[in-house]
Amino acid sequence: MRIDEATDREMARPQQSLQRILTAITVAMTVLACVVAAMLVGVTSAIGRANATLVREGEGIRLLEEAELDILLHERTREPVIRREVAGSLRSRLRMAGRLVSSADEQREFVRVEAPLEAYLKATPGDGPPSTEAVSHLEAAYAALESVVGVKLDQIETASQGVDDWDRLADVVGVSTATLILLLSGGLLWWLNARAFRPMLALARSMERFSQGDRGARAEVAGPSELREMALRFNQMATAIAAQREAQMTFLGGVAHDLRNPLSVLKVAVANLRSDRPLPPEPKVRKMLEMVGRQVGRLERMVTDLVDLAGIEAGKLQVKLERYDLRALIGGVTELFEGGSRRHRLVVSMPDEEVPVRADPLRIEQVLGNLVSNAIKYSPEADRVEISLSRRVSEALLCVIDHGIGIREEDQSRLFEPFRRVGFSAEEIPGAGLGLFVVRQIVEAHGGRIEVQSAPDRGSTFCVYLPLAPAEAAPAVQRDEVSGHALEPRPNGH
Ligand code: ADP
Repeated sequence: MRIDEATDREMARPQQSLQRILTAITVAMTVLACVVAAMLVGVTSAIGRANATLVREGEGIRLLEEAELDILLHERTREPVIRREVAGSLRSRLRMAGRLVSSADEQREFVRVEAPLEAYLKATPGDGPPSTEAVSHLEAAYAALESVVGVKLDQIETASQGVDDWDRLADVVGVSTATLILLLSGGLLWWLNARAFRPMLALARSMERFSQGDRGARAEVAGPSELREMALRFNQMATAIAAQREAQMTFLGGVAHDLRNPLSVLKVAVANLRSDRPLPPEPKVRKMLEMVGRQVGRLERMVTDLVDLAGIEAGKLQVKLERYDLRALIGGVTELFEGGSRRHRLVVSMPDEEVPVRADPLRIEQVLGNLVSNAIKYSPEADRVEISLSRRVSEALLCVIDHGIGIREEDQSRLFEPFRRVGFSAEEIPGAGLGLFVVRQIVEAHGGRIEVQSAPDRGSTFCVYLPLAPAEAAPAVQRDEVSGHALEPRPNGH
């Protein structure tokens, strides 16, 4: 399966995030742990309460049973001393048992013990046998005692039933929690292995392949969103590096091609002027020297662009600003190109008043030279190139207009990228795709901008906007002393 298809398939999947899934599992585990902890607290306090009930009710039953034994002893004995002692102990046991009463039912039964018991004790003084009336009180007290014991036994039963219920609930919660934890951790391990670690290792392998020189190595965009993001970023980076490399190779090809042309012209010229041959007639020698001059100019421009590119890459493009009249510079450039093309005429239009800028004259000359050279190069069928200079409110506007092959709209925004050549094969028109990149860097270093308007087969207009210098500044610089170029401002038309 192609990486693109896999990527599309993966992008269509609902997003799973490593962070979200780990957070959800951690929260689920925490909730489970809290439920189990709450359950443990509930079970232990229920068992504690049931235990206290069992102890209290057991103690109560023991006291009541001892009281029953006291009653039997009191009934059987005829010794007045023993009867008094037993009656005392009986009352004291009942008082203690009364303190252990724990429910309204029990209380109701308990109050039914006291009255018949006291009536029996009163009716049985001295050493005589109990009267029939005393025996009936005794039986009533005994029966009431039995029903108190019965209530206590019921309470013990209820308490142990409660413990059983808690125990069962704890079993259910314990088993379900263990099952859930097993399912969650098993699911997490499976998911990490199948959907996270595998794509991560695949991504690492793609990175390794790429670092070992496989420029086509790309990662499959798969797994949780974080990994998909990383894979996408890696793929973008790999594509950018591959494109850069391709552009560099194209650039090298362009440079080699551009170097070969002037060199072969120079070689022919040198061959014609060999010392062992008679010199050609003077007009031919002059023509050859003109040609040599043009080729040397091309070589010089190329080397300048390369040096500038290196400077721009290193962030060291330097401009030396000075105030001068832009009209003077146009004259210098047109002179440079005069005779450079037999076919093209340079038509210049500029205002009568000064167009002062604060700029590096050499750099701006380089900009204009590059634009004019392109205009000539890319309009092989045309017979003229126009240069127009004008003043705006706060800007100088310098345009180079040709009637050549033009540029498609979709290519126009990319022209200023380094090594970018569009719309024709490198064989047709030589060039390295660097000139406009350098031009834009220079213009922007002056606080200006460059724009292009073009239509295929109708020609192109490149316009440079530069900020005007403040009016009160010094007069125009006379650069002709330095460069030898004629810098006299010219009227409209060239
Ligand atoms: P190159 O050395 O290729 O001329 P540039 O950076 O000067 O490099 O130009 C970049 C590309 O822009 C050229 O390859 C060409 O495709 C296009 N271009 C530049 N100027 C013109 C023009 N005047 N007419 C048509 N295309 C142009």
